[in-house]
This record gives sequence, C-alpha cells and structure tokens, in this order.
Amino acid sequence: MEPARWSVWDMPAALVPMNYIEHLQRAGAVAMMIPPDPALVDRPETVLDRLDGLLLVGGVDVDAACYGDEPHPESDPPIPLRDATELALVRAAVARGVPVLGICRGAQVINVAAGGTLSQHLPEELGTTEHRRAIGVFIGNEHEVEAEPGTRAFAAMGGPTGLVASHHHQAIDRVGDGLRVSARADGDGVAEAVEGTGPGWLLGVQWHPEADPDSGVIAALVDAARDGGGAGADREEGG
Ligand code: MN
Repeated sequence: MEPARWSVWDMPAALVPMNYIEHLQRAGAVAMMIPPDPALVDRPETVLDRLDGLLLVGGVDVDAACYGDEPHPESDPPIPLRDATELALVRAAVARGVPVLGICRGAQVINVAAGGTLSQHLPEELGTTEHRRAIGVFIGNEHEVEAEPGTRAFAAMGGPTGLVASHHHQAIDRVGDGLRVSARADGDGVAEAVEGTGPGWLLGVQWHPEADPDSGVIAALVDAARDGGGAGADREEGG
C-alpha cells in the first residue's frame, strides 16, 4: 500500500517488487499477491485455506503501537491496515502450520505477532549506520551474518556465514514467544534471523534475499510449502 508511479499514472497502489516474485517462480511456486484487507484482519483463514506458504515482504516500519511502544521520530508513518492484515495472516498461518517466511519488515512482523518488540532506530543504539549505510540501494549495504548450525537460517543460507544485502534501521529487540534468534550480524550482534521453535516452518530474515539472485532463502520457503502443511498438501492427501 504505497503511493506509486508507473506509465502515466501516479496513485496509491498495492505493490510487490518483481524480484520477490521471480525468486518464488524460479523455485517452482505460483505467486499470488494478498493486498491489505479489513476482511482478512477478521478472517485470515479465507485466504490461508488456498495457500501452501506465506511470504511477508519488506516495507515500512511496523506501527510501534502494535508492540506497545511510542513511535520514534525516525520511524515511518504507519500503515495500520497493512500491519493488521499481516499480523492476522502470520498468526493464523502459524496456528495451522502453513510455512511462513518474513523478509526484513516481514521478520519484524513475525516477532511482533508473537508478542515481541522492536528496536526502533539502530543508528541511535549502535552509533553506526552499518545496516543501512545508503538509502534505496542494496549494493553497497551488504554485511556479514552468522547463523547457528542446525537452524533453518543455517540451512536456508547454505552454511554458517554469508554476506547479505541489508537495508534496515529497525531490528528485533525482545524475542516473541515460541521464537529464537538463529542468526546475528557480525560485530554488533544485531538479530538477523528468528525462527519458530515448534514443528512448523517459520523463519524471518532481517536481510534481503530477494535482492540476491544466488540466495536460496526464498526457495527454502517453497521447499517447505511443497513438503506439506498448506492447502496443496491437503489436496494431495485427499487424492
Ligand atoms: Mn542487518
């Protein structure tokens, strides 16, 4: 839900960058976009019944009110309907075992949905702009992350360390119920991945795998969706 310009038009749009979609399609998924919707806030199962997996894409900061905080002056103006829709979708997806991947804002949504909180402005806490040195680019904003062996983050990264595309000024602070931090930034230790401790496939990464054609993180969601949990798996079981 953003003001957008394309062709001769300049108007509000529900949009998803093509790089997310291309990652999903290359991994064998059919991508379907879910715009923010008041009906889904009340009944997220309406759409989850038809999905094998849920990808929460990046975007503006989550409204601090969603985790009981006052907004920091550097926080984005909130988009309450987007927050409410995504929080409802992720809670319902986790409850029914639909695999969920959150990217950047999406990782933060996963944490807030589980009762966690966010650090609202890392430059103030860290004294550096390491995680978003330049605005509006991924190249030039990379940093190293280190994942714990045996975690979904480790498996999705294909190893313990990686140079990742970064563009965030907020981060996971208090970790939500049923989640654990499974990757951290080198040096400052900022949480870079959270994942579910339960049986369901639930992963949030603070970095931007969609900006890296060689990343396997989005394909890991598609693999989990193919393996079961979602609507397609139910249909297969039904013959
Ligand atoms: Mn980072």
